[in-house]
Amino acid sequence: MAFTCRQCGTCCMYLGDYIVIEKQTGPFAFACESVSTGTPFVAVIDEDKRGIFSDHSFPDSHPHACRFLRPDGDRIRCTIHRDSPAQCKYYRCVVMRIADTEGNPLGYVTGNLSLHADDPGLRTVWEEAGQAVPHRHPDAERLYRQMLVAHGYRVE
Ligand code: SF4
Ligand code: SF4
Repeated sequence: MAFTCRQCGTCCMYLGDYIVIEKQTGPFAFACESVSTGTPFVAVIDEDKRGIFSDHSFPDSHPHACRFLRPDGDRIRCTIHRDSPAQCKYYRCVVMRIADTEGNPLGYVTGNLSLHADDPGLRTVWEEAGQAVPHRHPDAERLYRQMLVAHGYRVE
């Protein structure tokens, strides 16, 4: 499935300790650090999001959320889309949704190829797939999908 971010904000709700503002350097400019990689970066609030960024009620009431996250209508959006770290830009919360032959959902796979499922049969197939093809294989996602389908699962 082609990944489309719904801008629900879920993945950023507990990243306040990982995307850290070190210093404000201008009205909408910040010196920051991506703590997990130890990478400093400069963030300027996207021009079209400065209005929502200036309302601090959301970060005030969600102390663990990334400081750049803001509600915008029915979405919760990153206000530094242009300057966000690479791991934010490339994050994909779901790359496969897996169901049984009747279409009953069994689990899903995240962009780092982690399976989230309780079904023991599916977990076993996934472990076997991981032993046959390492996660770092450049074509791992497609090959895992093939293996799941070969075992009778529906994969979207
Ligand atoms: S990557 Fe997923 S969890 Fe994060 S905002 Fe987009 S849809 Fe929501
Ligand atoms: S920088 Fe943007 S995408 Fe990254 S955690 Fe913060 S709000 Fe989310």
